[in-house]
Amino acid sequence: MTLAYTTGTPVTDTAAPGGPIEERWDRRRFEAKLVNPANRRKHRVIVVGTGLAGGSAGATLAEQGYHVVQFCFQDSPRRAHSVAAQGGINAAKNYRNDGDSVRRLFYDTVKGGDFRSRESNVYRLAQVSTEIIDQCVAQGVPFAREYGGLLDNRSFGGVQVSRTFYARGQTGQQLLLGAYQALSRQIEAGNVEMHARTEMLDLIVVDGRARGIVARDLVTGEVSTHLADAVVLATGGYGNIFYLSTNAKGSNASAIWRAHRRGAYMANPCFTQIHPTCIPRTGEHQGKLTLMSESLRNDGRIWVPAAKGDTRSPEQIPENERDYYLERLYPSFGNLVPRDIASRAAKNQCDQGRGVGPGGLGVYLDFRDAIARMGRAAVEEKYGNLFEMYERITAENPYEVPMRIYPAIHYTMGGLWVDYDLQSNVPGLYVVGEANFSDHGANRLGASALMQGLADGYFVLPATLADYLARNPLEPVDPAHDSVLRAESEVAERLTGLLAVKGTRTVDSFHRELGTLLWDECGMSRTESGLRKALDRIPQLREEFWRDVLVPGSGEQLNQELEKANRVADFLEFAELMVLDALVRDESCGGHFREESQTPDGEARRDDEHFSHVSAWEFTGVGTDPVLHAEQLEFEYVHPVQRSYA
Ligand SMILES: Cc1cc2nc3c(=O)[nH]c(=O)nc-3n(C[C@H](O)[C@H](O)[C@H](O)COP(=O)(O)OP(=O)(O)OC[C@H]3O[C@@H](n4cnc5c(N)ncnc54)[C@H](O)[C@@H]3O)c2cc1C
Repeated sequence: MTLAYTTGTPVTDTAAPGGPIEERWDRRRFEAKLVNPANRRKHRVIVVGTGLAGGSAGATLAEQGYHVVQFCFQDSPRRAHSVAAQGGINAAKNYRNDGDSVRRLFYDTVKGGDFRSRESNVYRLAQVSTEIIDQCVAQGVPFAREYGGLLDNRSFGGVQVSRTFYARGQTGQQLLLGAYQALSRQIEAGNVEMHARTEMLDLIVVDGRARGIVARDLVTGEVSTHLADAVVLATGGYGNIFYLSTNAKGSNASAIWRAHRRGAYMANPCFTQIHPTCIPRTGEHQGKLTLMSESLRNDGRIWVPAAKGDTRSPEQIPENERDYYLERLYPSFGNLVPRDIASRAAKNQCDQGRGVGPGGLGVYLDFRDAIARMGRAAVEEKYGNLFEMYERITAENPYEVPMRIYPAIHYTMGGLWVDYDLQSNVPGLYVVGEANFSDHGANRLGASALMQGLADGYFVLPATLADYLARNPLEPVDPAHDSVLRAESEVAERLTGLLAVKGTRTVDSFHRELGTLLWDECGMSRTESGLRKALDRIPQLREEFWRDVLVPGSGEQLNQELEKANRVADFLEFAELMVLDALVRDESCGGHFREESQTPDGEARRDDEHFSHVSAWEFTGVGTDPVLHAEQLEFEYVHPVQRSYA
């Protein structure tokens, strides 16, 4: 097939050290140059984002003595989307003595990611995971404890050990409060200059290096320029490109997309994660989907009526007429198969006419047996707040009737390409947390995003960024430098351009149409013809947007329609690359399921011969063929095999 892109030179991760995998991170840290404590305060570092990745990065860098200039678009750093994470955070502590180890967490993550991540990165993540828990406990994060006093653990999908640390259904909130209090200390000490309600609208690249950003104060509309020695993006994922997702409504792709337009490669944009346990959508009016934590799959059993089109209420369906399809298909992992597998299995059941609830787009997540086994009080103790949330949204009591769940967009494994140091191909531009593509391959395992965000922010970035600053003496940037002025004027033109259209269609209506198209053609399963259809439609939709969008108000005030329009304009560009990436990757792997590439029993069929690489895309202009730089993946320690959870 002919596709609209060109192939560039391969990209390699030159920062990754060699040698035995257990020693690589230690070696990298030892070989990294240090910045003398007295010199650190001379360096200004911009950190965009205050979620777990940005909050931990900003607090740690400031604690080390750097001058941090930090941004978030929320009214407080602690309202970053990370606050919503419910289920938990993984760490190879082996408190349960159930066979866990750094090696096993490494193995589970590489396998769970369907062999599309880098071994060195994942091994480091598993190593650092244990330090994160110590760090957070020292900060006072109230993890759940067992009767004996040790921190409690539970299991998440794709693993057979219990290594997920949690704070009931509020793990993200508690971890973020820990990072936020560390950040607040540094704000108070004057080491972090915090700009809340301020949105980065462009990256400034001077002489090939990232040296600053252009940002807009969302309350006054004032556009300002900030210059520094390095820029760290910790801006989260782009799941909201699908319009409906479990992400916070404000989460968006603009920061990484703007950096991509300034030269940073975008890696594996088609790798998006569909979470199997979300509350089903109820209709067109809906603007947001709600996650029910994966932890519920520890005790809840997933089933559908065995007969197609069975409309009886669940209590009327006898045991022998129920199909606990995950337990039947994947007996070793049962209800705790990884997310990509559980999501596809739910879709298959619904496609075959066994779905429940309105439109047949749902499966049951049932606690009847857990309540009988453990007692209601124990279930309530473990999951009470999640049950309450479900009941508030659906008006159904999950202690009495099974929950209904359906897969939804939840996380994005793709993101800006970074090397082992978390540095993008633009020197001085670092990317941490969900915003980068790094550790999860084609499918992230549950409870691994918080682990990665905090590993990046508390431990990895502070070591690697120091090396960059120590090795690259930088002259101050002249605010009148051409690159600065160009970025400023492009931001201004774009804002005026959006306000000037004065069309007839709302921003939301464009966003909803784009999201529906992506969900249908680049969602849970993808086909060549569907992806081509989306590739035809996206440029038309973009053209219609710029001709007919209605953005009321002005730019010199709080204008949430303008904020949204700016983000949706970026989604309309990003979407084209995402779909192209999905079309070019003519294999199934993890969350990327190409219908043309499946095994006889309907599982994803990878094509390691042709696609055992990271696809890193270079921007060449809107609507212009991008350049694909492949990074070959090497597997020395975990040999790629067909994933099996049976
Ligand atoms: C409902 C839900 C539950 C989840 N539960 C879990 C879980 O239990 N365990 C787990 O491991 N993972 C979980 N995840 C995933 C995890 O929460 C996220 O991947 C993670 O929190 C992302 O952290 P982050 O720091 O990278 O980004 P975020 O927390 O999204 O923070 C992004 C930050 O960037 C800022 N920002 C973005 N763009 C700009 C801009 N242009 N200008 C200025 N600031 C900007 C925002 O203001 C914000 O401060 C869950 C996800 C969801 C949606």
